[in-house]
Amino acid sequence: MNDLSDVIEADRAHVWHHLTQHKPLETNNPRIIVEGKGMRVWDQSGREFLDAVSGGVWTVNVGYGRTAIADAVHAQLVKMNYFAQSVGSIPGSEFAKKLIEKMPGLSRVYYVNSGSEANEKVFKMVRQIAHKKYDGKKTKILYRDRDYHGSTLATMSAGGQDERVMQFGPLAPDFVRVPHCMEYRAQWDLTGAEYGRKAADAIEEVILREGPETVGLLCLEPVTAGGGVIEAPEGYWERVQEICKKYDVLLHIDEVVCGMGRTGKWFGYQHYGIKPDFVTMAKGVASGYAAIAITVTTEEVFELFKDDPSDKLNYFRDISTFGGCTAGPAAALANMQIIEDENLLDNTTKMGERMLANLNKLAEKHEVIGDVRGKGLFVGAELVVDRETKEPAEEAKVGAVVAACNARGVIIGATNRSVPGFNNTLCFSPALIATADDIDEICNAVDEALTEVFGG
Ligand code: PMP
Repeated sequence: MNDLSDVIEADRAHVWHHLTQHKPLETNNPRIIVEGKGMRVWDQSGREFLDAVSGGVWTVNVGYGRTAIADAVHAQLVKMNYFAQSVGSIPGSEFAKKLIEKMPGLSRVYYVNSGSEANEKVFKMVRQIAHKKYDGKKTKILYRDRDYHGSTLATMSAGGQDERVMQFGPLAPDFVRVPHCMEYRAQWDLTGAEYGRKAADAIEEVILREGPETVGLLCLEPVTAGGGVIEAPEGYWERVQEICKKYDVLLHIDEVVCGMGRTGKWFGYQHYGIKPDFVTMAKGVASGYAAIAITVTTEEVFELFKDDPSDKLNYFRDISTFGGCTAGPAAALANMQIIEDENLLDNTTKMGERMLANLNKLAEKHEVIGDVRGKGLFVGAELVVDRETKEPAEEAKVGAVVAACNARGVIIGATNRSVPGFNNTLCFSPALIATADDIDEICNAVDEALTEVFGG
């Protein structure tokens, strides 16, 4: 195979793409991305795109073509590529130390391959803790409407986006949904911190209904990602923390999307003064230069698994083969170094503010923009038919806006899979290296695309 028509043919004949309906690909060419540099990628025909979604799913935080990461991975691989994580590795130890320096209160790092897997490890730890400490009770795992935690059966059982879960049942038992905290589509006639506290109180109601002695974990995204880019209102996190403490429920923050700088701090939870018992991360950890995901927990949780060495079943009986690949932590170390050296957290905050300001300006012109929201370089614009009723814009039209941006050389996303056919939130998550010009170019494309599709 040496030219791209062979590649396209092989793709069409053999590759099953993720989240893709394949019928249209029988007549259209699949897109093959062949090269990337900074914020830009090029497809098989040589067309250049400004990537406003960091590799489609909020992953390539430091941008494309980073030779420093490739070189670090290369050097590590030729020295020592793999050994099972039941032993240690140099980059695994070094990255764990650097990471924990950024996460006060946490102390143990468990290496795996994907965000789903990192979350599932938490669920397994919590189930084992229930058996070790609570006589087999406290096995229930609470998750929130609109949040997403992965594609495996157990993580789908914690899936708050119905479109992703439909037709995959039966799911795993003892996963219980709590209401969302989104003020834009309010469930209670309150605003601001009162709304935030009420949304947290709704979690307490679920705990009381289920019986606090049965609930082991509350699993939340710091900013809901695929569910529509949703930040909790003021007052929410403080109450959540109180409730977890009161009922002895461990708190798990899923930072698979928000982790490693995406929101302008190393981790999303660090905006809100939360003290989690578990944090999981994946996408930005190595910016897609290697597959790596991590479950982080406290020394207190870790201690529970080593208190009786005479009991052979007492430790965490779990393994992840590719958690032992050294490419992951080697890439993660270099990735973190870039974020520090280039001051990318500050840049993310500044550019995020610019993006929000630009989109709010567009909202003055385009009635269809019902809400603009986000944190750092993680921004959403929810499209509605009517600002009063907030009826969601038609999914096909939202898709047309995404396509119109594409036609202008800008790749954006649309998300919010909580209700089937309700994918009405434009989503922007450019790399943390984005410049003011990049942000303006993205927003100009959106402006033109909205005019093309909705008029005005
Ligand atoms: N948690 C969140 C918040 C996610 O957005 C995702 C992926 N989109 C996952 C977990 C699952 O990660 P992965 O696809 O790496 O399994």
